[in-house]
Amino acid sequence: MKLVLPAPATPTVAVHGSDARFPVRRIFCVGRNYAAHAREMGKDPDREPPFFFTKPADAVVDSGETISYPPQTENFHYEAELVVAIGTGGSDIKEEDALKHVWGYAVGNDLTRRDLQQVAKDMGRPWDFSKGFDRSAVIGPVHPVAEAGHPEKGSIRLTVNGVTKQDADLAEMIWSTPEVISYLSHSIALAPGDLIMTGTPAGVGPLVAGDTCVVTIAGLGEISTSIGPKA
Ligand code: MN
Repeated sequence: MKLVLPAPATPTVAVHGSDARFPVRRIFCVGRNYAAHAREMGKDPDREPPFFFTKPADAVVDSGETISYPPQTENFHYEAELVVAIGTGGSDIKEEDALKHVWGYAVGNDLTRRDLQQVAKDMGRPWDFSKGFDRSAVIGPVHPVAEAGHPEKGSIRLTVNGVTKQDADLAEMIWSTPEVISYLSHSIALAPGDLIMTGTPAGVGPLVAGDTCVVTIAGLGEISTSIGPKA
């Protein structure tokens, strides 16, 4: 097939213990998956089924990189998250089969323009520009299931300049990884290369130029992101 422009590069994220990279197809994100975070955002965690938003695949950023403070915001936030990397696609996946579709897990940071998100909520507009902007998805090396197993509990923690801001346990997720995969696959067909960011615990807050933000999940290591001045 002849293309009228050079084909865009496939976005990729690192793989733990390997020089090979994991190709990213799409990035799905769960909203409000920890009760205390839902409450801090003014919502009742007990009454809402899971909902999803997306980021472009090419929003991925490796650990260790510096991100320029993004445009169009005065309230740029971190969100520590467990990331599920899908290896085998499928539709209408049963909960009991869901983990067979997972290739591995990574530590993530769902960077958010919180002020734009609040305007979107207030005006009933899409979240895209508050969540899906350039370099908004920091994803650490994917740990293959064979190495890391399926993390269901364990510490998820975020620091800014060494000060703890988020400190929770994966067991506090309202919707577990199998439930998230099953629910999502009843709405869209999951495909190899899809990433799912599974939601953030309480304690979200701002990042400013000069900050270093570190996210750690038990068994999956840590990722670090530095914030530079506005580009
Ligand atoms: Mn999030």
